[in-house]
Amino acid sequence: MDISSTRQSLLECIVERCGREVLVVPEDAAQRVLPARGLAMPQAPILRPASAQEVAFIVRNAAEAGQVLIPLGGGTGLVGGLSQVTGGEWYLSLERMRGIERIDRLNRTVVVEAGLILQTLQEALREEGFVFGVDLGARGSAQIGGLIATNAGGERAIRYGMMRDQVLGLEVVTGDGVVLDLMSEVRKNNAGYDLKQLFIGSEGTLGIVTRAVLKIRPAPRNTHSAFITLKNTADIAPSFELLGRQLGETISAFEVMWPEFVTIIEASSNNHGWVPQTPDAACYLLVDQEDFSGDTEGELFIQALGELLDKELVADAIIARSEAERQSFWSFRNDVPALASALKPMVTFDVSIASQLISEYVEEVRQLLGKAAPGLKAAYFGHFGDNNVHICIDGGETYCQARDDIHAAIYGGVIRRSGSISAEHGIGLEKRDILASSAQEESILIMKEIKEIFDGKAVLNTGKIFK
Ligand SMILES: Cc1cc2nc3c(=O)[nH]c(=O)nc-3n(C[C@H](O)[C@H](O)[C@H](O)COP(=O)(O)OP(=O)(O)OC[C@H]3O[C@@H](n4cnc5c(N)ncnc54)[C@H](O)[C@@H]3O)c2cc1C
Repeated sequence: MDISSTRQSLLECIVERCGREVLVVPEDAAQRVLPARGLAMPQAPILRPASAQEVAFIVRNAAEAGQVLIPLGGGTGLVGGLSQVTGGEWYLSLERMRGIERIDRLNRTVVVEAGLILQTLQEALREEGFVFGVDLGARGSAQIGGLIATNAGGERAIRYGMMRDQVLGLEVVTGDGVVLDLMSEVRKNNAGYDLKQLFIGSEGTLGIVTRAVLKIRPAPRNTHSAFITLKNTADIAPSFELLGRQLGETISAFEVMWPEFVTIIEASSNNHGWVPQTPDAACYLLVDQEDFSGDTEGELFIQALGELLDKELVADAIIARSEAERQSFWSFRNDVPALASALKPMVTFDVSIASQLISEYVEEVRQLLGKAAPGLKAAYFGHFGDNNVHICIDGGETYCQARDDIHAAIYGGVIRRSGSISAEHGIGLEKRDILASSAQEESILIMKEIKEIFDGKAVLNTGKIFK
């Protein structure tokens, strides 16, 4: 890569201030693989500051030199948030800022650096008898800063909310290189505008998250899980309602998988140790219930499932009899690598619509795709409890030929039902051109003004979310 002399002296100045360890040269960067799709990192410098002050120094100098920086977390984002727009951007990685500073058992908070990996946080909390509200399949790579920047949702959003609901305080470096201290540790704080909310879900376009104060929750005594078969997709919503009435907020996951998804995962080489597929199943559910009362055997859960069976809403239900069995249910649901290899190159859609409209929506998309792209491989699944459907399709030749019709089928149905073209993955570069279909023109103008306030020199992930 040819780095101009201005950019070369910027790099030298950063190395002089932060030390040799700060720089990964473009050739070494290109050896790295982004976990989201298994693709190589672009050949561009990666800067790895070790403190908020170093981040601020880099941002200030980059702004002066007109050098755009892309904040880099775990590389699991699914909307091209890390893609190069001009080909000249550099990355700023939080990988040397991974500390857990303090777990406060009384206040139920944890203070962390933004480069901390989600799974490391979950493991540390488990030892203390706590859990973190957000969990997702990419837990082994996704970082707290990246999860905040994308306002990630995941598997337990139905009970604990998305990242926004976990964050009490933030430290952020803005595009001017100012370290904004928004590190409130209290749950009640009405002192003026809640500025941290603007950075949550801003995909690295307004500031670089360097630290956070997060809520933590007492760990449940037991979690009960069931893999359920339905004969009719119209029964998903009444099943969800009935379980909600019986078990209240203790339902912590309500995932739905259509047969195409199950067939692909079953056919993969991974051995999940059990076969859930039923010949005339219309769809499958994976439901978790968290128990805080000491109901070790899951009597309430079994009773609620019994009622689903009695009312003939569900055809069959397998209850996990051990933690290992529970994990095997979840590893089946989360086997995105198997999905990605069956649909390679996989194209992912992440939309949301009101739960009662999800079944008819999926049926409509299936039919439209069948007409627009006969033979196209597609899998449907999602976090039904929080209105979220994922559609993953084979991005090969059939997709390329019918791309516009496929997008019209998937997004058209969402827009007609007043849903969102991005439920939890964000906008990034991939959905930039269709942002207006889920956000009013006036709102987009305000978003641009906010960008101007925090990043007037357009140094942070410029070209993402909007032009
Ligand atoms: C297998 C798999 C399962 C997934 N499941 C879910 C799911 O259930 N729910 C869900 O919501 N998402 C899911 N995702 C996608 C999800 O968006 C990402 O996993 C995660 O939120 C991004 O974190 P990251 O650290 O990998 O960020 P990256 O991918 O590195 O970056 C994502 C965006 O955030 C910005 N960014 C990163 N770090 C910072 C920072 N410190 N400050 C400012 N900006 C920053 C980047 O510039 C980029 O725009 C999944 C992804 C995979 C691969």
